[in-house]
Amino acid sequence: MQDLRGLYYSELEELISSLGEPKFRAKQIYKWISSGVSSMDEMTNVPASLKAKLLDAGFGVYAPKVLSKLVSKDGTIKYLWELSDGNAVETVLMKYRTGNTVCISTQVGCRMGCRFCASTIGGLVRNLSPAEILSEVMMTEKDSGEKISKIVIMGIGEPLDNYDNVIKFLHLVNSPDGMNIGMRHITLSTCCIPDKLRRLMDENLQITLAISLHAAEDGLRTEIMPSNRACGLEVLLSLAREYYEKTGRRITFEYAMIAGVNDSIKHASLLADAALSCGAHLNLIPLNKVEESPFAPSSKKDMDAFTAVLTRRGANFTIRRSLGGDVNASCGQLRRNREKSRKTNNSSERI
Ligand code: SAH
Repeated sequence: MQDLRGLYYSELEELISSLGEPKFRAKQIYKWISSGVSSMDEMTNVPASLKAKLLDAGFGVYAPKVLSKLVSKDGTIKYLWELSDGNAVETVLMKYRTGNTVCISTQVGCRMGCRFCASTIGGLVRNLSPAEILSEVMMTEKDSGEKISKIVIMGIGEPLDNYDNVIKFLHLVNSPDGMNIGMRHITLSTCCIPDKLRRLMDENLQITLAISLHAAEDGLRTEIMPSNRACGLEVLLSLAREYYEKTGRRITFEYAMIAGVNDSIKHASLLADAALSCGAHLNLIPLNKVEESPFAPSSKKDMDAFTAVLTRRGANFTIRRSLGGDVNASCGQLRRNREKSRKTNNSSERI
């Protein structure tokens, strides 16, 4: 089934015309899908005959189901959604003073292999469709009753590894007839896939780009982020500079602080060089402990020494406030727990 939510308005109009129906039906249906309906049954002013035609043509509406919903003491809500094929992805709603931000997934699993990340442990299962990505935002808004004003693409998956679907999602969510979320309120985070990043630059979107750096020397970055083999820091930094020059939009480098791995004074100095060379803002992330991973978060003392170097060097940084720690809010952990318990259940079935 193809989800109607994944169609541009013009595509929906074409579909409706091709089914021999008047154009105003497209408007009615678009209004319903934009309001976050869970199925075509809810579209009360659309005739049953048209719904039947759409189903025959392979179209419908599918809303992901809430598998679990965890509400943190700080108001953060973490959803685990079940998709139409039984796979699961996570979405996190964070409440900031500046507005509600939703952190969304773009793939089921991930094949980038970052060694500190829970999302990549089982590899990539599949890409999410534009409709599925959009549904995360819509259904979070509908279920929580909270208006969403910002999106960060920092959940499960590598967005540039699902390029076309992510670009279509960006246009859909930005559509004035749809959720109308401004491109300037959207941040895309990537480990950096050079050819895809170049394509993104040429799209001329006003989104904010965040690059997951985590190490400012090639040997270490390749060790903890195998995707660095195909990119390399020299290319990454020149792309970052080019992005800034072309779009005028300051880039963010994300840097998860890992004890004894990337948090020494020397690392801080290399990071300052990297940031200053392309006018990037630094976002330091206290590492979230992942059970299967040997890495631990840096100590407060090491972080203080690290940030003192950044300050002395004039590099611009913020430390990411950790929200939802009590509900496993770091990406991939809820899905990972579900996968583990499914495996345990399966194996006990086999016994
Ligand atoms: N694939 C994209 C988006 C995914 S995750 C990317 O690489 O940017 C969003 C951010 O969380 C990335 O910077 C990622 O490296 C970071 N991250 C992953 N696991 C983490 C962990 N255990 N602790 C802290 N940050 C983590």
